[in-house]
Formats: sequence, structure tokens, C-alpha cells
Amino acid sequence: MGGSIGGIVTAAYLTKYFKRITIIESDDVLSDTFMKSTPNQLLDYRCRLASPTSLGRSGVSQMYHSHVLAGEGYIILQELFPQLKDKLLNEYDVRDYSLKTECRFVVNGFVLNQDLTEDFLWLGIDRFTLETVMRKELCLQYGNQIEWKCNSRVVQLIVDQSLNIVKGIKYRQKHHVDSSSIDLYGDFIIDCTGRNTSSVKWLKERFNLIVPTIQIHFGAGYVTFVGERFKTGDPSLDSKHIIGYGLSPPDKNTGVGIIPIHEIKTMDENSLGTLSTFTLQCANYEYPPNDSYENLLEWIKEKLDPEYYSIFKSTKVCSPLVSYRRAIDDRKCVEQLGKKWPQNYVLLGDAMCTFNPTYGQGMTHACRQARELGKIFQENCHKLKDISHIFNRRASAISEECWLLSTTNDSKTPTLKIIKTDKNGEIKIYQRGDDSAPTENLQPRESLMLQFMQWYNHWFSQCASKSRQLSTDFYRVMNQHSSPFILMKPTTLLAVFHTAFINYFNLSKK
Ligand SMILES: Cc1cc2nc3c(=O)[nH]c(=O)nc-3n(C[C@H](O)[C@H](O)[C@H](O)COP(=O)(O)OP(=O)(O)OC[C@H]3O[C@@H](n4cnc5c(N)ncnc54)[C@H](O)[C@@H]3O)c2cc1C
Repeated sequence: MGGSIGGIVTAAYLTKYFKRITIIESDDVLSDTFMKSTPNQLLDYRCRLASPTSLGRSGVSQMYHSHVLAGEGYIILQELFPQLKDKLLNEYDVRDYSLKTECRFVVNGFVLNQDLTEDFLWLGIDRFTLETVMRKELCLQYGNQIEWKCNSRVVQLIVDQSLNIVKGIKYRQKHHVDSSSIDLYGDFIIDCTGRNTSSVKWLKERFNLIVPTIQIHFGAGYVTFVGERFKTGDPSLDSKHIIGYGLSPPDKNTGVGIIPIHEIKTMDENSLGTLSTFTLQCANYEYPPNDSYENLLEWIKEKLDPEYYSIFKSTKVCSPLVSYRRAIDDRKCVEQLGKKWPQNYVLLGDAMCTFNPTYGQGMTHACRQARELGKIFQENCHKLKDISHIFNRRASAISEECWLLSTTNDSKTPTLKIIKTDKNGEIKIYQRGDDSAPTENLQPRESLMLQFMQWYNHWFSQCASKSRQLSTDFYRVMNQHSSPFILMKPTTLLAVFHTAFINYFNLSKK
């Protein structure tokens, strides 16, 4: 269910283990507009329209926002689609960017050390083009094994309650909402329908199963546009194609991301020769405006350091300003349900867990979960009935790594709101408020562990700004090549404690 990033990658992995795979997708993603458009037409759609809804693609509302594909996700895509990279580089005028030489990244207010001990490559592409090209590759490579049912919305599960099995799904043609639903049966069913999945509702209705969930609302807001960068006169900015300034709540609730998506040929020597996606982001409801570029520039001047203002001031805007305000951290804690979870059914990608988009983790998280599912089938020693439980355990460990990176900082948001539903369906709402804005909800309590992580995060960033190795380790985690626990190796712990101690000592001397 769902034929976006998670659905495409999962289908590609499972072609080795299933004779026939059906992807049910609510949008018309195989229309000529997507499948036959030239690279320039796709770019034109991206720049001209405020969203791809008028092209029949409304199912991924974040489609037009900046999307970084972390290194591990890039490796997975190259493994599954060996032709993909060449096609993108040769036909779509995109290229790889080096994090060592072409990136400037500020974390918790500290510029990461740029003299990395190893390099990482990011593909500079927009999400709309990437997804469209991946789908074409899937059809080309596995067209005879994979059937698409587009314009078809899944509306319910078909289950055998007594055996605790999901046997199939019911779907409806999207444009005939009054038509009766059609039944489709399968040996294994995967929900890749993204952040608005109905699985929690379906499992409750069909099995009376309550899925424990945690939702963290941190007042996220994004405004994105495509633009052409021109020189600012500051070589330390103009030489960097990728620019990131991360949120650092509670004091710094605004950030920036600039990612190139297309190389352009230009005679203007002041142009940097790329189109990029520009994102202004916030936590704590400090939303960037999208009514006019002048107002957005004013917001940047007020909220961000002057260097970012100079970049935006010298940028030519080439698309509408697109806003997104619905991002939250949202986790379905499927691992807590053990064998109560039904057989032959799993959630994957955003359907299982969504994160603060600032950290650029979601697509790679979905790719890694899909690879893990492929591995479980490859191990060839598990009964089909056990696979959903094994997957839930292993996939949630992948979610946990990304969750840690995302929520450690998000939990510091002044207007934080957390909604927790436990296995029995009891809902607790926690909300941070101060004397000026009291709330009836419980105050969120931060565990000692979380408080330590927040403290560590700050001092680690300071150390990393001076250390090649720690910055490299940070990039390894961010690219999902390594678990966040490598940031707590004994030598690193010592360096972080030492930096914090020296700082406290110097302060107390003043
Ligand atoms: C503003 C923003 C910026 C982001 N930036 C980044 C980034 O830089 N890097 C990154 O890695 N991630 C980023 N993400 C996260 C990323 O978009 C998601 O993690 C990723 O799209 C998840 O893929 P998915 O396939 O699981 O779900 P989706 O991409 O949401 O796909 C779900 C699919 O299911 C279909 N569907 C939905 N309901 C049904 C139904 N009932 N029946 C049939 N089909 C259905 C939809 O049409 C869609 O095709 C960002 C998210 C946001 C909100």
C-alpha cells in the first residue's frame, strides 16, 4: 500500500522473494505526466506550480519541500537501481556534492569542522524528480513482476481475527467514492502509506488492537522555494553549495537549509550555476511568512545571522513560496505489542515513524527498513507467520536511532506538546507552558537520560567544531552510516566532559 519512496524500495527488495507484487497507490502516479515528461518538463512543473496536486499527485504533501537523501539511503538506491545514478547525472543535470568541500553546516550554533577525515556525497536533486525517476526505474527493471493499481485508495483490512492474520485489503477507486470496495488478498501486506496512515484505526476496528503511540508537537513550520544563487562577495559562503543552520531550541528556533537540485548553464559570472531548494524552518510556532519574498527577507533579517540574509538577498526566486506546518515526531511503538501484532502485516517508513524533517532522515529510514525486511526474507529460516514480529523488533531499532537524533533537541521547545497513547488506550497529554500561557495539561517531565543527552548534544557540537574526527563521526550518524552511539565512544566522552569542565571552570573564574 503506497507507491512512494517506501513502497518503491520495498517492492524492489521483495521481487527476489515474491512472484507477484501489487502496489496500490491512491494517486495517478503512472500517468503520462510523470512517466513521459522530459527532465526539463519535470523541473518546470517543480518551479511553476505551488504543489503537484494539479498534476494528480496530492498524496505526498511535502513533495515540494527540500529533501536531503542521506548517504546510506543513496547507497541503498544505487544497490537496487544500478542505472539510476548514471541516468540522473547524465540526463537530469544533477550532481553529487562533497560534504567535505562544498558544505557548511551549523549545529547547535557551532560550525562543524570542515576538514573531515572522510568524505560523504549527497545527491543534489529535488524530491519530485527523484521519486519520479525511481518509479520509472522500478517499472523498467521489474515491470513484469509488479502490478500497479493507481487511483486506488486502501480503505480497510481483510482479517481473520481468530488466527490474528491480515489476509488482504479493501480498496476503492479514488474517483468513484460511492462505488463498492474491491477485495484484494495477499501473502504479506506492507503499509507504506506515509504519515497519515489509517493502520492505527483499522487495527482497532478489526482486532480491537490499540497501537501505543507518541506524538511530539514542536511548532514546526517550513517555507521552501527554488532559487538561483548569486555571489554574495563572501567566498566562505559562495564556495559552499550546501548550507545548513540547524534549529537549537529553546533559544534559537529558526533555521535554514539550502540544497542544490539542478546545474544550469549561464553566462552570468555572478551566478553560482545551480538552482537550489531554499528552506526556512522554525520550531515553537515562529513561522516564516510565505505571502511575499519581501516579508520573508524581513523575517530572515530579524531571526537569522546576517550572512544568511546576504545569501537570500542575492538570490533570484524561481518558484512559488510553499509552506508546510504539519510536521511532528510521530511514532507507532509496534515493538511493544509483541505477538499481539497480527501476522503478515507491517508498517514501514513514515507509516511507522515520522521525524522532524530538519534532520533529513525520513527517506533513508524508509529505505533502511525496506532493506531490513529484505534481509529477513533472505535469511530463509523464518516462517512467514513470524516475519511481522521479527520485522517490528528490528525496524523499531532503526526508528529508535533516528528518533533519538530528532527528539533530543525537539523536546527543548518552549511550547512543547506530547500526546502519548498506551497499550490500553489511555491518552495522556503533556504541554509545556509558562506563567504567561498556563495550560491545563500535565507538564512534560524530562528523564535524567534525556536531560543528559541534551547537555551532551550541546558540548559535543562545541567539541566537533574543533575536531576533524568528531565532525566526521557526526556526519556518519547524520548519513545513517553509523548508530548515534558512536558519538559516545570513551575517548569522545572524555573530550566532551573535558570541554564542558574547562568552560565551567573559565566561567567560574570570571
Ligand atoms: C517538510 C518536510 C521535509 C522533509 N525533508 C526530508 C529530507 O530532507 N530528507 C528525508 O529523508 N526526508 C524528509 N522528509 C520526510 C520524507 O518526506 C518522508 O520520510 C518520506 O516521504 C517517507 O516515505 P514513505 O514512502 O514512507 O511515505 P510517503 O512519501 O508519505 O508516501 C505515501 C504514499 O502512500 C500513498 N497513500 C496514502 N494513503 C493511501 C491509501 N489509503 N491507499 C493507497 N495509497 C495511499 C500516497 O499517495 C503516497 O504515494 C520531509 C518531510 C517533510 C514533511
